[in-house]
Amino acid sequence: MKKALIVGQGIAGTVLAHTLLMQGIDAWVLDYPVPGETASRVAAGIINPVTGKRFVPSWMYDTLFPFARQFYLNLGTQLKVSIWTDFILERLLNSPEEINNWSVRMEAANHPSTLDNASPQSAWKQWLTSDFFVGMVQGAARVHFEVLLPAYRAHLHARQRLIETQLTEQEIVSLYKKDFEWIVFCVGAKAAQGELFSHLPWNLTKGEALVLHHASETFPTHALLKKNMLLAPMQPGYFWLGSTNAWSYTDEFPTEAGKKTLWHGLEEMLQWKPAMVSHRAAIRPTVKDRRPFMGAHPTVHKVFIFNGLGTKAALLAPYWAQHFSHYLIHGVPLSKEVDIHRFEKE
Ligand SMILES: Cc1cc2nc3c(=O)[nH]c(=O)nc-3n(C[C@H](O)[C@H](O)[C@H](O)COP(=O)(O)OP(=O)(O)OC[C@H]3O[C@@H](n4cnc5c(N)ncnc54)[C@H](O)[C@@H]3O)c2cc1C
Repeated sequence: MKKALIVGQGIAGTVLAHTLLMQGIDAWVLDYPVPGETASRVAAGIINPVTGKRFVPSWMYDTLFPFARQFYLNLGTQLKVSIWTDFILERLLNSPEEINNWSVRMEAANHPSTLDNASPQSAWKQWLTSDFFVGMVQGAARVHFEVLLPAYRAHLHARQRLIETQLTEQEIVSLYKKDFEWIVFCVGAKAAQGELFSHLPWNLTKGEALVLHHASETFPTHALLKKNMLLAPMQPGYFWLGSTNAWSYTDEFPTEAGKKTLWHGLEEMLQWKPAMVSHRAAIRPTVKDRRPFMGAHPTVHKVFIFNGLGTKAALLAPYWAQHFSHYLIHGVPLSKEVDIHRFEKE
């Protein structure tokens, strides 16, 4: 049986390890003994079918979403945990420009079926700060990263496929190269400072988020709310609010400015006073051309990368892990859009 060593147990490494395992590969995962604050631990795993101020459909959404949904539902069943929730996303619109952009997208010939007519029937209606125009987006979801990652780690541990150690990238290669067919680095934003893949065109961003608690009332459980910030129900009484997006930052820790921006974003949407449970920050593995990074290291034999999932890891990881696994196992060429060799001059 061929052996793969996956370095990093964030969402990228977790999904790739499982994908390889499902195809008969003996997949091992190496991660730090005590994982720190990583992007996958801070994120809520939201899948939003539309992006940006112009409500453009997310890249490859129609292909990626059903694939991701099936993958996480199957994995949840295997692990005996619930890691997927389907959501409606309510997009609050109030400026004439936003309402116009929304209408344009509604009328566009190729708009995704996920955009319904705007509606005043918000599940959050009684707490809204003003009489917003509300665009309903079907086909949003949340992957419960906070449940999936520890459950998969426990699963790896029980199968004796988890290596917990703190080594540099070069040390990992030297130590494990002889035992594994492939060593795949899934180390998120750390890759930009690492010894093997720092040459790639990273464009890292820092993100901050809050976990909030409000026990006294019954709030919507299947409607995400979005304006400048996004509010997502988690387990009963708990909500995730995120996120900020900074290209320039001095460290990876939460900031007062970030907290202020998040609270302001909440107050713009809702008349509602939850308590703050935690304030967290991490660096996203974002990439200049906003496409994942995968492929073989240009010079170091047996060494690969699966990374660059940016702001959409929950949606991208399953489909692209499958694509990458076919490349590793069967030699199927990688799509040019995601191959790290796309940056080399012809
Ligand atoms: C505030 C915030 C909100 C976000 N919201 C969303 C969202 O709602 N939906 C969404 O899809 N995405 C979201 N993202 C983006 C998403 O979190 C990231 O794209 C994703 O988590 C990246 O996963 P990863 O596995 O590549 O990296 P990471 O999560 O960084 O995981 C890397 C792993 O590698 C390990 N590692 C690093 N170096 C080594 C080493 N030398 N040896 C061993 N192990 C190592 C780390 O310990 C870690 O476990 C958000 C990000 C942030 C910061």
